[in-house]
Amino acid sequence: MLCMEQKPQRYAGTILKKVKLTETVYHFYIQHLSPPTLYFYPGQYVSCIIDPQTRRQYTCCSQPTPTQFEIVIDVSPMGVGSKYFLGKNEGDRVEYLAPLGSFALSDNSLKKIFVATGTGIAPFRSMILNEVHRSSLLVPSNIQELRTKNQEQVSTNDERWTTNYSLYWGLRFEHDLYWVHELEALARQYRGFQFFVSLSKPGSSWSGLTGHVTEHVLEMEKNFQNSEFYLCGNSAMINEMRSRLLRMNVEDKRIKSDLFY
Ligand SMILES: Cc1cc2nc3c(=O)[nH]c(=O)nc-3n(C[C@H](O)[C@H](O)[C@H](O)COP(=O)(O)OP(=O)(O)OC[C@H]3O[C@@H](n4cnc5c(N)ncnc54)[C@H](O)[C@@H]3O)c2cc1C
Repeated sequence: MLCMEQKPQRYAGTILKKVKLTETVYHFYIQHLSPPTLYFYPGQYVSCIIDPQTRRQYTCCSQPTPTQFEIVIDVSPMGVGSKYFLGKNEGDRVEYLAPLGSFALSDNSLKKIFVATGTGIAPFRSMILNEVHRSSLLVPSNIQELRTKNQEQVSTNDERWTTNYSLYWGLRFEHDLYWVHELEALARQYRGFQFFVSLSKPGSSWSGLTGHVTEHVLEMEKNFQNSEFYLCGNSAMINEMRSRLLRMNVEDKRIKSDLFY
């Protein structure tokens, strides 16, 4: 694990930036004020204090740094959490308990298969950005060039560099898409990372994958026994994916999930 483990505590932070990604999805950049630093690992979440009786959970979607973090919020439910964040702007204060959760990447050489719906992409963006930052686990597309330039370093890292990541992301409409260019660019840059997005309700101009994301996992993946599955998003996808994987004799301990709703 990159970051040291930290016990959850109450934080105050300030919103540095609020970016509208789609009609209902917002990306918040938050700086810790007090305490000024937070160490968490990718996959963990914060529990935002909406009022003394109400909290809502949001998973960090950024590469962990001690002084700030990012969250992505779908406000379409329009409950108290959605309304709270819709009303928040740059410079506003927020309070949260953090770090929370244990949805973390295992430290082993199994292929990691990430399956997300909607804002369930959050932990996987954090994990992938962190792996890129560590620059040891993903195989850059220019590996041949690197091998020639620096034989020694590449061979030292060879074993770790064989780890692979596939990210499958399910959304409904074209207008739900965001971060696709960023994730596609990473997939082009790193051979060890593959990215697939599927729309369940695409318009006629959509030429990409369609239908439930779970079907694409089952079609595209080759080696289920040597893979580990990480599922995040809505309960329908998580339940469906888990039961299909169990039927294919994937061990339960190789299927990890984080249920958003
Ligand atoms: C560990 C954890 C991490 C989470 N991380 C995120 C995150 O990173 N980003 C994020 O947007 N949400 C995340 N959620 C969901 C979030 O905590 C809230 O449930 C969500 O924002 C709705 O809150 P609300 O008060 O607006 O609506 P509520 O009044 O709490 O919910 C209204 C209804 O909407 C349903 N619902 C909740 N979320 C959605 C959704 N996205 N689409 C459709 N229906 C929904 C609820 O099941 C409920 O029936 C996470 C939840 C958990 C448990």
